[in-house]
Amino acid sequence: MDSVVIVLKGKDPYLTTKKALQQFPLPNLKGRRALIKPNAARLAVPGEGVTTHPGVVEATIDHLKEKGAGEIAIGESCIFGVDPEQAFRATGMKEVSEKKRVELIHLDRVAPMEIKIPGGKVLKSIRVPAILKKFDFIISIPVMKTHMHTRVTLSIKNMKGLLWRREKARLHQLRCNGKVAQGDKALDIAISDMASVLFPHLAIIDGTTGLEGMGPAYGRKKEAGLIVLGNDPVSADAVATRLMGFPPEEVPHLRLLAERGLGEIQFSNISIKPGDFLKWETHFELPPSKLSFSFPDVVIHDEGSCSACLSTLFVLLHRYKDLLTPHRLGDNKIHIGIGKHLENISRGTILIGNCTHKMKKRGTFVKGCPPVASEVLRLLSSLGVYV
Ligand code: SF4
Repeated sequence: MDSVVIVLKGKDPYLTTKKALQQFPLPNLKGRRALIKPNAARLAVPGEGVTTHPGVVEATIDHLKEKGAGEIAIGESCIFGVDPEQAFRATGMKEVSEKKRVELIHLDRVAPMEIKIPGGKVLKSIRVPAILKKFDFIISIPVMKTHMHTRVTLSIKNMKGLLWRREKARLHQLRCNGKVAQGDKALDIAISDMASVLFPHLAIIDGTTGLEGMGPAYGRKKEAGLIVLGNDPVSADAVATRLMGFPPEEVPHLRLLAERGLGEIQFSNISIKPGDFLKWETHFELPPSKLSFSFPDVVIHDEGSCSACLSTLFVLLHRYKDLLTPHRLGDNKIHIGIGKHLENISRGTILIGNCTHKMKKRGTFVKGCPPVASEVLRLLSSLGVYV
């Protein structure tokens, strides 16, 4: 398969996507059963850069219908703690599904099935919704975002939303030995393992409004006005990464997939239109490499957390840090623990998330997976940790 990527700039998400699709050499879709996987896993409204703009999904549905697709559905599973009905309404997916009369599937509410991963380095199998078997054309429609753990989250990373329920968190909790990792994080290797069996047939990256900084949820929106379309999702992600201002080789899961022969990141081997697409390059600010850098009076014990608890921590510290002052320990610092593999923590540490449960006798435990920041605050308040 030749890797083809089309980049288009435009103000209107629907019109720009439609135009890009009309230019794209799609395979014969007559009778195919297409599943659209947007990013609609959070409570966010269109235009904030957190979730896929419904106009992009609507244009995709219209185009699939014109091309004779047999069945079209939108499928998503939300992050833990988010009510799917509310998220689908807030993100506009419910409205699109009703307007276009396509099924909207909450993928955590259907039965799971297991897929083996031949040659998987850290994952030998994954559980996904069994309903995926019904579809033979999967379209990943992510938002163009930076990500605190994986640098970017685009069409490959968006497929993580097809994992069944808590399987998503499992990817963030893996550890691997140095022999397997060779400098790469277990999460990046796991994403490349996952993508080896869960690979979209088409990527439509919604860069109309993206997210920079503390992605995937708490960054700043970035009006890039771009749509990136590709039949090789690795190539589409590589081009999008470059448009965000950095080399695709610096995104470990893309490099790993290219090394495994599962996609192309060398631009000389990708047909990219227009040839001068870099005229639209824009700089997305990356997340800070260490949260604690911004908070010298906070000690973060992070051993095996996932992005959801890190997001909670980020919001907690940015919005409410001053309220935590009475919780300083003997070294005059606030200690916070997250993650499954916590071991040596100071007595009195604030322990966030179910993963820290085993350490609860050593600190103040806040349950949830993840607990939201206001819940952490509420619990500390109810315990009289501060007034
Ligand atoms: S408790 Fe936090 S770190 Fe653990 S799986 Fe849940 S969200 Fe991730």
